[in-house]
Order: sequence, then C-alpha cells, then structure tokens
Amino acid sequence: LEKKIAILEGRVPQKYPEVKFLGYKERKRILVTGGAGFVGSHLVDVLMTQGHEVIVVDNFFTGRKRNVEHWFGHRNFEMIHHDIVNPLYVEADEIYHLASPASPPHYMQNPVKTIKTNTLGTINMLGLARRVGAKILIASTSEVYGDPMVHPQPESYWGHVNPIGPRACYDEGKRVAETLAYSYAKQEKVAVRVARIFNTYGPRMHVSDGRVVSNFIMQALQNLTITVYGNGRQTRSFCYVSDLVDGLLGLMASSYTLPVNLGNPVENTIQEFAMIIKNLVPGCRSMVATGAAVEDDPQRRRPDITVARDNLHWEPKVSLQEGLQRTIDYFKEELSRTTFYNNQ
Ligand code: NAD
Ligand code: UDP
Ligand code: UDP
Repeated sequence: LEKKIAILEGRVPQKYPEVKFLGYKERKRILVTGGAGFVGSHLVDVLMTQGHEVIVVDNFFTGRKRNVEHWFGHRNFEMIHHDIVNPLYVEADEIYHLASPASPPHYMQNPVKTIKTNTLGTINMLGLARRVGAKILIASTSEVYGDPMVHPQPESYWGHVNPIGPRACYDEGKRVAETLAYSYAKQEKVAVRVARIFNTYGPRMHVSDGRVVSNFIMQALQNLTITVYGNGRQTRSFCYVSDLVDGLLGLMASSYTLPVNLGNPVENTIQEFAMIIKNLVPGCRSMVATGAAVEDDPQRRRPDITVARDNLHWEPKVSLQEGLQRTIDYFKEELSRTTFYNNQ
C-alpha cells in the first residue's frame, strides 16, 4: 500500500504490467464503456496486455479509478470521465458497451437514470458504432428472462418480466438495449454482439456493492450475521470474472450475431451458498439468518450454455471453490485497507 501511495504521489515511477507489442495492422482501438467497473476493469486488463489501445469511458457512478489506476499514464490507455447518456465523439474499431449499474440496490436507487443509461446511453453507443463502422458488444443480462418459467434458461426463452416492478428499470432497460442493437443491425448494418451475462463475481467487486457475493463474504470475514433474503431456496449460478472476460472476448471475435448466454451452469441455493462461504472463511463464527424476501426476486436461475459451447467453444474453467477463495483473499485485503485508512 505504501508503494502505491508513493506512486500516486509521483515519488516513484509507475511500473506497468507487461504489454505485448502489436504492429499497427493488428492493434485495435477499443472503447470500453463502464471500464472502471468490476467486469470492465478486468476486460481492460486483458485488452491492454494484448497490446491494444483502450479508451475507458465511465462516470464513476459505481466504478472506481482505482480499478484501472495501474494503467494511468500508459501510452495505450486513455480514460474519459463521461456520462454515456450524453453523446460521445471518439474513434474506435470495437466497442464493449458495459456502462450500467448492475447491482439491484444501485440500479433501484435511481430507476429513471438506470433506464436512461440503458436506452439513451445504448442509442449513443450504437450511433457512435454506426458513424465509425465499429463492431459493438452489448452487455445484456440474465435478468431479461425475469423470474423464469423455463429452467435452465436457453437464449430462445422470451422471459417473464414484471414491467412495472422494482427490477423493471434494469430488466426492461436491458431488453430495450437488445432491441436497439438488433434494430441498428437491421436498419443501419451495425455489427452487433449481445452477451446475456449471468451472475459474475471476483476481485474488484465493491465492498458495499450490495450483491450477494460481496455481502456474504464481507459478513463472514467480520463474523457478522449472513443475511439470506427470503427462505434461501432461490437459486443462482455464479461465474468467475476471468471466465466471463474470456467469453466476452470470444463473442466479440466470433461471427455469431444472436444473443449468447455467458455464465457458469453450476447452480446453488442461496442458503447453500451462505454455508459454502462460511466454510471457506477459517474460524468464521457468523450465523446464517433468513429474513424478508425481496420483491420479484427470480426464484431459479441457471444458464443453458449450449450456444456458447457450440459457437464460441467457450465454457467456464474456474471452480466455485477456487474463485471464491481468490475473492475472499481480495476482500480480506480490502478490509485491511479500510482499517489502515481509518487508523490514519
Ligand atoms: P459495475 O457497477 O461494477 O460497473 C458498471 C460501470 O458502469 C461502473 O464503472 C459505472 O460507474 C459505469 N456507469 C454506470 N452508469 C454510467 C453512465 N451513465 N455513464 C458512464 N458510465 C456509467 O458492474 P459490473 O458488474 O462490472 O457490470 C458491468 C456490465 O455487465 C453492466 O452492463 C451489467 O449490467 C452487466 N452484467 C453484469 C453482471 C454481473 O454479475 N456482474 C450480470 C449481468 C450483467
Ligand atoms: N452519437 C454519438 N456519437 C457518435 C455518433 C452519434 O454519441 O459518434 C449519438 C447521437 O448524438 C445520436 C445517437 O448517437 O443521438 C444516435 O445516432 P444516429 O446516427 O443513429 O441517429 P441521429 O444522429 O440521426 O439521431
Ligand atoms: N441475496 C441475499 N442476501 C444478500 C444479497 C442478496 O440473500 O445480502 C439474494 C438475493 O435475494 C437473490 C440472490 O441473493 O436471491 C442474488 O442476489 P444479487 O443481488 O447478488 O443478484 P441478482 O441475481 O438478484 O441480480
């Protein structure tokens, strides 16, 4: 940490992670919206180490400069503080459009803004893609399936979404984003890719992100009660972030243009998940308590990843055990960082 502070204060020069050299013919200029967020920053790391030029656009609503600060000053890296609800004029060969709050408490905090980001923001990025002839990948979500009546969920399922419920700003916002993508593809010949991302976790999730993985790990590390919402029989399937990033890169590179589920098909109840995390934190004395259910909480979720397997030759590699261990190590460090600052 002290080394990091010294770098930030300019007392020692920044050392960058190793970056491959690419000739100008292979090197692409890649725009990542939401690139200072959890998933975006991991994607930026891979694109940078591959030797591409990366432009991050973010308004820091839920993202942090700290997630990408190790690239500050690198000649292939550029960061623009911008809200994508407003038009943006830059040049790019490819666009990964990830800007949107993703955690339920965040996207419900200002539902109108969530809708604007996913509709107006997506129109702006599709307009940009159209103007410069860039290929664009839209980060959609398993939430387009709502509280699903089909299990596991294949891409052909149209979903079961309450259009006026508390999650609608996000679910319907992403559904419109998909509709916009295919409308621009049809009408304006924009090359689009659509990833339906299922629950993803890993280092750089914010400690107060509010999603289940960060909540449970933070509670377990501090011996606080692990808060299961509802009876805990609802299920989710958790994908480690490096697997998701591989899937996003594979989808962008592929010629498959319809939506693709990206997620890990290993499914657990939330009650089981609480016990898995408790058991991975040595000496954890947390109780697991059930409480009030949240409105419109999807009851079962597991991706059918046949399309990704067949067309991208992709499937997740990191086990839940291994991924959670890495994530717990990260949150441990975050906790000690908070303690360090509190003691200053
Ligand atoms: P995140 O909240 O960590 O990152 C989102 C980023 O977008 C943040 O850096 C935020 O500041 C930025 N942003 C939000 N509104 C913006 C705006 N109007 N203008 C510019 N920047 C804006 O979330 P994440 O988990 O990294 O999610 C990234 C994308 O993947 C989102 O589109 C999300 O909907 C999608 N997704 C994620 C998951 C998951 O489990 N992580 C699941 C499904 C879909
Ligand atoms: N847009 C943008 N950057 C660009 C090109 C367009 O932000 O490089 C925005 C533009 O402001 C417009 C939207 O994207 O509101 C949609 O663009 P499009 O060309 O489809 O529509 P039009 O400009 O005709 O409204
Ligand atoms: N959840 C929980 N306790 C928490 C946070 C979430 O029991 O502290 C539950 C939530 O009700 C949902 C599941 O965990 O059933 C996943 O929630 P999350 O917010 O991570 O993502 P979602 O898949 O609902 O968008």
